Amino acid sequence: MLTVLYPWQTSLWQQLCQQLQTNRLPHALLVSGVKGLAKNSFAQHIVASVLCLNRCDDQSSCGHCHSCKLLNAGSHPDHIEIRPEEIGKQIKIDQIRNLRDKQQLTPSVSKWKTIIISPADNLNVSSSNSLLKLLEEPQHNTVLILITSRPQKLPITVKSRCQNYHLASPPSEQASDWLEKYAENKVDTETLAKLLQLAKGAPLAVVDMLNCNMAEQYLQVEEDFKSILQNSANPIALTATWLKYDLVMVLNQLQYMIRDHMIKSFENLPKIPAGQAKISLYWQISDCIVGVIKLVSSQTNINNTLLIEDFIVSVMRIVNSKTTN
Ligand SMILES: [Zn+2]
Repeated sequence: MLTVLYPWQTSLWQQLCQQLQTNRLPHALLVSGVKGLAKNSFAQHIVASVLCLNRCDDQSSCGHCHSCKLLNAGSHPDHIEIRPEEIGKQIKIDQIRNLRDKQQLTPSVSKWKTIIISPADNLNVSSSNSLLKLLEEPQHNTVLILITSRPQKLPITVKSRCQNYHLASPPSEQASDWLEKYAENKVDTETLAKLLQLAKGAPLAVVDMLNCNMAEQYLQVEEDFKSILQNSANPIALTATWLKYDLVMVLNQLQYMIRDHMIKSFENLPKIPAGQAKISLYWQISDCIVGVIKLVSSQTNINNTLLIEDFIVSVMRIVNSKTTN
């Protein structure tokens, strides 16, 4: 496993290098940022460097010392990774208790011991409490890295004991350049910009989208939304199409599109005095979208077919009332 550093990670990496060089490495790091910024890969890069016995001048791991070889083989005795036993499940208290036992040991190959917990927002209440005890009694030669795309889900007590390493999405130009260079599935610049917006600027999330033909889906939803705003959509047929997609993704896209409509109306206000009515129409639609996103994300038992049909009908009603007034 050769670790790589992505261009949007370099400034955070430099910050860490300074801490490494001056022996001021924090005992706990919280690596956060939206999905698709390669947070796990960044954490692996840190681990490889911290454990390496013969670091390069730029503080990266050498790739061929005893420690690097063990890490590449996945059998480094001084490194532990804690992940849910099944995807999407919680990290159990026993996993953290085992960690506390192992943490008492001294490192056997490297000068440091490293621990990755990912995704840290999958810790439940009892495993978080157990982890807290570990954070309260830090060992001087241990680096613990928590990874999350939902830091708001972590207890404040845990967060406050970690140094925050927030990975920001790169500027859109840098992200587009990177995607044009490295993404295997290409789309036109305009579609790429829209997908980047939907992915909150995370290039690797766009790569995933391109790999599962999300560009086609994006354009389809765009057309569908136009037909809703023109009052010519068939709610039942449209719902059937949307339910085949990732619903949260569709709704996020609608939110971005309505926001774009609002921005355009605001810009045109001096030229089109009736624009104010349009803006209030878009606000009402935006409220509908936010309401549906909340319901869909609440993970309660909701009939999505009825919910989306009702949403489309409501939006068409709003459009109709504004155009007939
Ligand atoms: Zn090495």
